[in-house]
Amino acid sequence: WLNVHTCFCPCLLTLALELKVMSKSTSLDPKDSESKRLPIYRHKDRLIQAVRDGSFLVVTGETGSGKTTQLPQYLHQAGFCKDGKIGITQPRRVAAITVAQRVAQEMRCTLGREVGYQVRFDDCSTHDTVVKYMTDGCLLREILADPALSQYSVVILDEVHERSLNTDILLGLLKKNFSNPAKATKGRSFPLRVVVMSATLETDKLSSFLGNCPVFTIPGRNFPVTCTFGSAVGPKDTESTAYVKEVVKMALDVHTSEMAGDILVFLTGQSEIERACDLLYEKAESIDYRYDVQDQTVEGLLILPLYGSMPTDQQRQIFQPPPPRIRKCVVATNIAATSLTINGIKYIIDSGFVKQLNHNSRVGMDILEVVPISKSEAQQRAGRAGRTSEGKCFRIYTKEFWEKCMPEYTVPEIQRTSLTAVILVLKCLGVHDVIRFPYLDPPEERFILEALKQLYQFDAIDRRGRVTHLGEMMVEFPLHPGLTRAILKAASLGCQDLLLPVAAMLSVENIFIRPGHPEKQKEADTKHRALAAKSGSMNDFATLLSVFHSCKSSDRPSTWCKENWIHWRALKSAFSVETQLREILHRLQQKKDFPVEIFDGNKNELFRRCLCTGYFTNVARRSVGKVFCTMDGHGSMVHIHPSSSLFDQEAELNWVIFHDVLVTSRVYIRTVCPIRYEWVKDLLPKLHEVDVYELSSVAREEVTDEEMIKWETREAAKRQPEASAEDV
Ligand code: ADP
Ligand code: MG
Repeated sequence: WLNVHTCFCPCLLTLALELKVMSKSTSLDPKDSESKRLPIYRHKDRLIQAVRDGSFLVVTGETGSGKTTQLPQYLHQAGFCKDGKIGITQPRRVAAITVAQRVAQEMRCTLGREVGYQVRFDDCSTHDTVVKYMTDGCLLREILADPALSQYSVVILDEVHERSLNTDILLGLLKKNFSNPAKATKGRSFPLRVVVMSATLETDKLSSFLGNCPVFTIPGRNFPVTCTFGSAVGPKDTESTAYVKEVVKMALDVHTSEMAGDILVFLTGQSEIERACDLLYEKAESIDYRYDVQDQTVEGLLILPLYGSMPTDQQRQIFQPPPPRIRKCVVATNIAATSLTINGIKYIIDSGFVKQLNHNSRVGMDILEVVPISKSEAQQRAGRAGRTSEGKCFRIYTKEFWEKCMPEYTVPEIQRTSLTAVILVLKCLGVHDVIRFPYLDPPEERFILEALKQLYQFDAIDRRGRVTHLGEMMVEFPLHPGLTRAILKAASLGCQDLLLPVAAMLSVENIFIRPGHPEKQKEADTKHRALAAKSGSMNDFATLLSVFHSCKSSDRPSTWCKENWIHWRALKSAFSVETQLREILHRLQQKKDFPVEIFDGNKNELFRRCLCTGYFTNVARRSVGKVFCTMDGHGSMVHIHPSSSLFDQEAELNWVIFHDVLVTSRVYIRTVCPIRYEWVKDLLPKLHEVDVYELSSVAREEVTDEEMIKWETREAAKRQPEASAEDV
């Protein structure tokens, strides 16, 4: 047998096949008996009864007890699907897909029929689907179309302890719409059952939020885990990337010096995970199993990455037991902390960091940042080692780092990211008073005001905080409001074909491959530069458009991608996303009041002008040398990112718009497009003109018309000239 194998080795396919064959031949159908051994099984009847008994129920239990995979099946068996579907939400798309696959297997049906899933831009469900796993964002969109959720008999909000933005909003909405018995059956023939599932301690808080509903606890059975601190990451290293090397070193230490048992490494994201797996593979090759390892029953290491955007067939391997005498080492993001349970883990290696979306006040945008995890998160990670026997957790950071840098609890997403998209959803659902909406933990008022201001800038709401016609159209797109605004502008000018592919390309993972090897990197850079030049104009959005079409029109698109260092899988998703966006737009254009405008200029200018309509909040102007200054009131100093085709062309530029920023020691803007000041001149005043407090106070229902008129008159006097700000 092989000593070391990994999914990066050339014989990947053979290995995957071998693994499948092995696990099949060892047991005929293990799933039945496996699921009966789960802690939840003994409580089946009482759980079903508890769901029957009231409209709200909180269910809690250790990760791995069977909540996600089993409870929906129990309810299905108990006949809940006679009245409607069972919907289960997940904060993460991989979890929704993977769990649906597992449950379809357990129920012996084809995925997409009785059991299905729906995540953004990927709907694997049909009319027959009665057990539907989906992301929390998808359920939120369904509520928009059908506030009574009339197709559902049960809605299960899962992983509520993660406190994702959409789950928090769903909690508030379900409470608001379904906790009052008189209101709860409006639009429905039978009452909806709501189950809220959470892995940790916040159950009392959840229960009291939901009108003191009952709490069902599935008793856990965790074994003790010994935790040790390391010496690699101290309080001064919060920005360091040395943790990749350190976790690799630690994993090899465990592999060579600890008894048999699988390893789970917690890292931050795809690129770090791939780097760690490469390093591990390289180093593990030189292990001599006769002399180097303590436990002589261990003869190899199986290295498996696990992150959100990896192909699902690779994900399936994670759950398979490793071949005999082989130790499995899974290198994962936080997804393995609670969303997915991997059996057989005995050792945890904790990097102490997580990639998190945070509102960055320095640039006024949401940014994915690597930050220290919270202490409660660290405990959750450690707990993954004690599921079947005693375990060990190796933290690479010092005790001092734990004490000084790690917060007690993770701050809920609703308190740290942009609320623009969800506030628009709430407004479209008729929730005017977005400040006094029932939030489990309310966001700071300034974040709500910021969202209202942005919606007003995009013309999605008016000065009274009411949704405009444009806002109603915008909410149909599962995209950032700015990008949607640009698409709608393009559609009204009849040039949506320029914007839809770009929006699709920006909605999938990065399409440009960045190889780790310096030589290969050079080759990839040259190809990417050639693609940019081919688009004809130095404009990163145009490059995306050009790549989209070049690949689509190629005879052998996958080969084309390979030759040009482009991710074929990402492009394939982009093609599908584009079709879906086109369908949404088409539906809107069927309505008679869809706006139509005329423009006579060249296509290049038209394209960039449409982009300006959506990206005027991301305008920067060159100040000195290569430094640009943003125009959104923050006045941040930014640089063009080296990946942009405009990098090193700065001297020829004055005004640019950009898609997003990357914050390191500098702030970099990425996906950049040169523009002319005239195109945004009328839009920019909008960034400063509106008084956010007034906007929110008129958003509250109790404002009288009289007050409103007074306020509007005052505002009108302030605005000069009237048309420039409004005429977008
Ligand atoms: P909980 O939701 O309580 O954390 P789950 O229902 O997710 O628990 O998991 C129950 C069991 O099912 C775990 O032992 C887990 O390893 C197993 N399991 C879940 N998904 C899969 C899968 N795709 N393949 C194999 N086993 C799985
Ligand atoms: Mg679960």
